[in-house]
Parts: sequence; C-alpha cells; structure tokens
Amino acid sequence: MPLSKLNILVTSGPTIEKIDPVRYLSNYSSGKQGHAIAAACAEAGANVTLISGPVHIPDPQGVNVVHVESAQHMHEACHNALPADVAICSAAVCDWQASTIADDKLKKRANDDELTLHFTKTPDILKSLGTHPTLRPKLVVGFAAETENFIQNARIKLFAKQCDWVLVNDVSNNKVFGQEDTHLQLVTHDSVENLEKRSKEEVAKIVVFKMHRFFTSSGAAPIAI
Ligand code: C5P
Repeated sequence: MPLSKLNILVTSGPTIEKIDPVRYLSNYSSGKQGHAIAAACAEAGANVTLISGPVHIPDPQGVNVVHVESAQHMHEACHNALPADVAICSAAVCDWQASTIADDKLKKRANDDELTLHFTKTPDILKSLGTHPTLRPKLVVGFAAETENFIQNARIKLFAKQCDWVLVNDVSNNKVFGQEDTHLQLVTHDSVENLEKRSKEEVAKIVVFKMHRFFTSSGAAPIAI
C-alpha cells in the first residue's frame, strides 16, 4: 500500500463562528475536496484523522473523523492529533470570530439602521502546524483560494505559513465551493505544476501519488503507528 505506516491529518469543510444563539459567520465550503483526500489516503493504507467542520456529506470510510464547529475547536483537534507525518489543511477556516458571543439573540430595535459587530482573528491552523517547534509534520500542505495573481499569492503563503506545498485554485465567480470539478496548481518552493481541471476525487489521487513519491524519494521515515 503506497501510504501504509503514515499518520495523516486532514482538515475539511468550513468552520462556523457563533455570533449569538441563533446566528453565525461561515462560508460555502462543502468539504468535498478534504473528504476526498482523506478517503484516498485511507484507501492507500494511511492512518487518517479527518477534522471536519459542519458539512452535508457523509464521513469517509476507514477514517477517524473528529467533528468540530469553530476554528478554535479545529485548532485544538489538530494539535491533539499530533504527531503526524503529514498535515493537509483543506478546510475553509473562517478568518474572523466574534470578539464576544452574545448570550441572548441580538435584537433589532425600531431605530436601528446599522449593526456593528466586532471580530478578532481566528488561530491560523496551517501556520501553527507549519511552524510547530517540536511536532511539525514532515509534509505540510495548504490550500489557497485566490481571485488573482495565483502563483505569486501561493508562494507568499508557502513562506508565511511555512508549508511545503500549496494547492491554489481560482475562486473568482465562485468556481470551486460545492462544485464537483476544480482546477488546481501545485506550488512548491521550487516548482509549479498545473493539475488541469478535474474532479476532486482525481485531485485526491494525484495528492496521494505525490505524497508516496515524497516519502519514497526523501527517505523520511514515517512515525511508527
Ligand atoms: O490565509 P488563507 O486563508 O488564504 O490560507 C488558506 C490555507 O490556510 C488553507 O490551507 C486553510 O486550510 C488554512 N487556514 C488555516 N487556519 C486559518 C486560516 C486558513 O488552517 N485560520
């Protein structure tokens, strides 16, 4: 099996950030790409932990799934899943969380024309894994959703978050969230590869193939499981 003996951590889906008991901030991520990668890694023999935000698709078979809601929960679950050989962060983590979650439903008063809410940054999970002082996975993979300057922005992300690969896609016109197909480019520190437009399952198989090559050519020994 190409990925046997590897411990792989995958994040998937959106996060939801509560505002009050009935409202939240989130995004349109379906979880299809992250779930497909988790399933393909498990089929290739890896021990997979999938940390998923709320999605409407079933848990993949043969995968240990941890269901979370917020970025904070996802961050904690990822760090609890270490050590891992590989971390693949495909979740669309909300960048912002409400500075305080209201205990009661925020009321609309008769004279209100505007509402001001305060948000603070969520933890950057990918960066926290890429820069982990003692338990950095040997291969750290991020995704980037960009509307312009794809390769340049992916390279900035590679350095800023200390990852090894960034899979970048074009989300102008909402071309990716919830779709079956995706058009990714795989950007590493020394290469760019156009993966062409294909299904998210096919992308998952390519990622498995490339991980296999990474571990066989780098000689990196897997963590014993
Ligand atoms: O910075 P940006 O959101 O564009 O980066 C996207 C990449 O970073 C994705 O791999 C996503 O899963 C990850 N990310 C994260 N935690 C955040 C924000 C993004 O892990 N708070």
